[in-house]
Amino acid sequence: MGRPTGEKRDDNGTAGDGSLSDALAAELESVSLYLHVPFCHAKCHYCDFNSYAGMLGQREAYVDALAREIRLAGQRARRADGTPRRCRTIFFGGGTPSLLTAAQVEGLLREARTAFAIDADAEITLEANPGTLEYGRLDALRATGVNRLSMGAQSFDAGLLRWMGRIHSPEEIETAFAAARQAGFTSINLDFIFALPNQSLSTWADTLERALMLGPEHLSLYSLIVEEGTPLFSWVRDGRVIPADDDTAADMYEHAMERLARAGYGQYEISNWALPGHECRHNLTYWRNLPYIGLGAGAHSCFAGHRFAEARPIAGYIAKMRASLAANEAGEVGAEAIVLPAGAIVEDEVVSSAMAMAETAMLGLRLNVGVSRSEFAARYGRTFEQVFDERLADIRDLGLIETVGDRIRLTEHGRLLGNEVFARLLPDEPAAIAG
Ligand code: SF4
Repeated sequence: MGRPTGEKRDDNGTAGDGSLSDALAAELESVSLYLHVPFCHAKCHYCDFNSYAGMLGQREAYVDALAREIRLAGQRARRADGTPRRCRTIFFGGGTPSLLTAAQVEGLLREARTAFAIDADAEITLEANPGTLEYGRLDALRATGVNRLSMGAQSFDAGLLRWMGRIHSPEEIETAFAAARQAGFTSINLDFIFALPNQSLSTWADTLERALMLGPEHLSLYSLIVEEGTPLFSWVRDGRVIPADDDTAADMYEHAMERLARAGYGQYEISNWALPGHECRHNLTYWRNLPYIGLGAGAHSCFAGHRFAEARPIAGYIAKMRASLAANEAGEVGAEAIVLPAGAIVEDEVVSSAMAMAETAMLGLRLNVGVSRSEFAARYGRTFEQVFDERLADIRDLGLIETVGDRIRLTEHGRLLGNEVFARLLPDEPAAIAG
């Protein structure tokens, strides 16, 4: 599995001799950067993300800690020759990153540009709540270098937005979208949720039509998940809310697949559609199981064969960062800590090769193109079939996955039952697959 040296290449991530292609090797050497912004105006009833309402008073201190962590991460993630690590994409996620001022976003990007070698054409996304956007703010954000907006629109039905606890109205989605266009954003994603209680197929179809009228470059459609610990979870448990049934959810999903295909959007992942060339490069990093560094409260990283998780509470994150910086300045950081990309880590797990292979398979099968068999073999030295065929035999017999040329992918039917497939890919214990 060494680096190739200029021999014949094919287009699937491997060199002709089965080793990594230069392009894939370069991707594995680079990172995507995720910056978590945990503030929200109000907590939506279904949300279990690491986000907090009523804590904007901590914003300055948080951004300061995050900026310092970016600097630290850049130092620790340097390449073996001491040069900054290449970074292909940056994603401000939340929470509600649009609650940061443009000056704060600019300051964080400045740190990132100093700490990492950011590609000149890097995709830089910021998640935004339509209730927090107006032209002046969007114009200032665009000037910082943010070149992609991802808006949590969720629905065009006013009653459902209220029911979800969202702070915006359907009209505010349209106003924010128009303002974003005016400010020069040419790559905009809209997020929507379907299979909401009491949502009819025609209400969902109306939401999609109004979304299409705006002409976003990208659409993410998620079915509602009842997460433990949320108000929605208690409502369902107490019988006050009846979740949509699986058939209704499947009808809505199939309607979206058909309607968006007709409108020229390519589905490239189970929940994601894009106009050609507008697939989210940052999220493709996750689905292709490539390295990423997540910084900020509760953020996760996958880097240098480890998975890391950061302290979740805002105050805990700030305190941990301060302690980490003090130790760093005092020269008290042990050699074992140097591999850590950043300073507020509370969990560090070495990823076994069995788990790495399972994750590459599970995440890759979410993509419509599926998993490249030659790329898989070049990365892990074993073929997809050697590792998984026994586990997936019945799934193949049921017609949920198929092999087409170099690719193994879910069938259209399989996309509706993806979890059935993914569950079989996880190792019972690392040794079961590591072999
Ligand atoms: S705006 Fe987003 S992150 Fe904030 S509470 Fe609502 S769903 Fe969660």
